Amino acid sequence: MDLEQENRKLFRQLRDLRKEAQRSQVTLERFHTRELELMSADTLAELLHVMTEGMLVSFRVDSIQVLLNDPDHEIRLLLNNSGYPDSAYAFLRFVDDIYTINPRFSKLNSPWLGPFLTPDFDNLFDDTAGLRSMAILPIFCRNRLVGSINLGSRDESRFSRDLATDFLARLGKICGVCLENTINRERLLISGLTDPLTELHNRRYLDRRLDEELARASRYNQPMSCLFIDADHFKQINDNHGHQAGDTALRELANRIRSQLRASDVATRYGGEEFALLLPQTGLSEAMLLAERIRLEVASNPIQLNDGNQLDVTVSIGVSETLPMLGKSRHKEVGEHLLASADQALYQAKARGRNRIESLVQNRSEPATRQIKIGD
Ligand code: GH3
Ligand code: MG
Ligand code: MG
Repeated sequence: MDLEQENRKLFRQLRDLRKEAQRSQVTLERFHTRELELMSADTLAELLHVMTEGMLVSFRVDSIQVLLNDPDHEIRLLLNNSGYPDSAYAFLRFVDDIYTINPRFSKLNSPWLGPFLTPDFDNLFDDTAGLRSMAILPIFCRNRLVGSINLGSRDESRFSRDLATDFLARLGKICGVCLENTINRERLLISGLTDPLTELHNRRYLDRRLDEELARASRYNQPMSCLFIDADHFKQINDNHGHQAGDTALRELANRIRSQLRASDVATRYGGEEFALLLPQTGLSEAMLLAERIRLEVASNPIQLNDGNQLDVTVSIGVSETLPMLGKSRHKEVGEHLLASADQALYQAKARGRNRIESLVQNRSEPATRQIKIGD
């Protein structure tokens, strides 16, 4: 080979190397962007959005499924609590034991890239149509496998076994750390928003959700109702049976209320022996029916105490409705009026004999009494 040929060869090699370096630089930058997005997610809901739809777009793949191990259903509970049920996420699947999903998971220490093989990998994607290659990117948290991001492509050369996987492995680790952080953050938040005795939400949570729900009701022009439920003569229960029995009764009351609700209803322990419920997308007549179901559920069966005694407990319920909608800028005012009206209706139910339901119609000015009475 003469010198000129040698030079040309070296020049070609140099050019290829430079191209390779440029490609690596682009890949690196793309991964950096993904990592930043993951790390800037403030909430679990946001993080899961980045991990699912966000990754689908940024990886430009044809199919994606994020599997998350959630044996105690805690992640699902946290999501539901923050108002984003897991069903709100496309491309996300919770499993009780990730190792039963695919035998490959038991030896997955680093990302696996290769051909999409049916039926072996069918259950790793919702949509397997036309997939030719795939990547399973394990998510580790403190060296435990907590999930995987499964990427599928119709291009068979997209994920091949000889591709470097360092960036993907790093991304999986970052996902694990971010998951742990947001779950911890959400746990803390929940503990400040949950009543430990009944495990219902507390008043602080109600205030937060009220704003959100009013905004939603206003956007979709939907009604919303509120129930104030107060145990009747509860002081006597404490006086006659002791505080412990009172606590048992409160827990049982909360369970009976919970048993009558839909997933979208918000139940809170508002204070002592008083519960406040927000019922989105619910008009007054439907709310009255629910109130009656709760009243009956409580009054129909005595509460069993640990010492064998039984307690006959009843509740009085005030119902109010906010009509669609009293002006977008007045959420705070509308919310306060909704709660105050339910409270006022409750006061009336007490005054008119207890173990009964009263309602007030929300009015732009003063609330007017409405003569709906159930349970006389
Ligand atoms: P009314 O029918 O008018 O509502 O009568 P009431 O006795 O229920 O109302 P009152 O407000 O006089 O008393 C409420 C009682 O609820 C007093 C309080 O000791 C009791 N209570 C509040 N919180 C708790 C709690 O966490 N545990 C127990 N055991 N009792 C509680
Ligand atoms: Mg009471
Ligand atoms: Mg009370």
